[in-house]
Amino acid sequence: MNPSHTLIEKLSKFTEKQRKIIYENTFSIQLTKGCSIACFDCGAGAKPKLSDYITPDELTEILTEGKFPHLNGLYHASDPLDYDFEGTDYLEIHKIASKILQSKPYIATAVPKGKEEFVLKYLLHGNYEKINGWVQGPFINRVSVMKTNYNRIQKTFEQMEGYKEEDQIQTKNWKKNDEIIITNEKSLKAETIYSFNEGTDENLFIVPVWSHYVASIGKPVDFKDVMEYYKYRQKNSGHYLSNTPTEIADHYSDSKPGQIHNKKLGEKFKDDLSDEGIGCAHGVILTPKGAYNIQTQRPTPDNPLGWKPEEITPNNFKVTPYKFYQKIHGEKLEGFLKKGNHRLTGESFIKDVLTKIRLKTFDDILYS
Ligand code: SF4
Repeated sequence: MNPSHTLIEKLSKFTEKQRKIIYENTFSIQLTKGCSIACFDCGAGAKPKLSDYITPDELTEILTEGKFPHLNGLYHASDPLDYDFEGTDYLEIHKIASKILQSKPYIATAVPKGKEEFVLKYLLHGNYEKINGWVQGPFINRVSVMKTNYNRIQKTFEQMEGYKEEDQIQTKNWKKNDEIIITNEKSLKAETIYSFNEGTDENLFIVPVWSHYVASIGKPVDFKDVMEYYKYRQKNSGHYLSNTPTEIADHYSDSKPGQIHNKKLGEKFKDDLSDEGIGCAHGVILTPKGAYNIQTQRPTPDNPLGWKPEEITPNNFKVTPYKFYQKIHGEKLEGFLKKGNHRLTGESFIKDVLTKIRLKTFDDILYS
């Protein structure tokens, strides 16, 4: 696939000041156009095939030119791990970006085909990322497991050294005083931390996962058990970055028939939409095709994802100031919008003032 270079060409048409404002409000640089996973109920509206990308040199140029105080990740309606162009895969481009930004881009992936082992390696062996000696959280922040990718992840898991059935420790008499998370619903709950000081009747299958052991009674440990382990860790991690494990978004267990995800979004569900989309910010995204305003709204039949990208152009220069609403800490979209965060794009403004003052003015004045 040849890159179109459209983003870099379009950015060059803006003035330096305009680019500065765009960058300061950018929360996502979507490196690829389209997503190889092709979920029919994609809540981000991704097209089901890769068709364009931002080159490593272009990304370096953009990141070096601007300041990106709100940049969260290198994907949006896409999967970061799809990036593999010009001899640079996602890991490489992540390193380039982290070095320039001095912080870690967030990674959420639904495990594109061929990346199963890459993701499993991180899930099984531990994955904190440090930049300049500071823990930045897990390298892969979130993995979406769905009915459509579970089987290939499980198949790879079964073939991995140390995790194949014949490699799993089997015992009826586990004496070691390590923490073991048992995930076999037949016996103990996933929440149970169990120290085996006595023998059991059935064979225990045990594998090391990160700094613990995951065990299953009566059957080899499978990827579902690993997921339970991660969900357990997530619930009990506290608030320390150094303790935060990769989050497993388990759509494998919770999606309804006829859905891959747990939310109903997009054209397909336009008459029965979920209350919230998956977006959690107002601001700007850069994609291989240009710079776009994004405003999070309640999904409606006209706007069934809850946001629509609107292109920013030099002649009609309107930029949505960055705003984030914290789903994680329970702020609902409704509360976020009620606070006056609805419809932020307004008049063109290019004032050479501090970002904060500018954004405050913008928030106060430019509702429509
Ligand atoms: S939901 Fe995520 S993984 Fe699925 S098509 Fe959309 S961007 Fe890709």
